[in-house]
Amino acid sequence: MNDRLPHQISDAAARLAEMQTLRGPAPGCTVRIRFRAVAPDEVAQLTAVAADHARHGAKR
Ligand SMILES: [Zn+2]
Repeated sequence: MNDRLPHQISDAAARLAEMQTLRGPAPGCTVRIRFRAVAPDEVAQLTAVAADHARHGAKR
């Protein structure tokens, strides 16, 4: 699969497609992970990252 569109285009396409948005559960967490049409195990991985603030919030 060759799905490497420029960010703007993929963002526009995302609004048209059914999007999944994952948000961090931590208070004040602004992390949002958006995806569409990804493999189930990839969804599980993204969900795990979104759910665990330490995994996406500890870099800075
Ligand atoms: Zn977070």
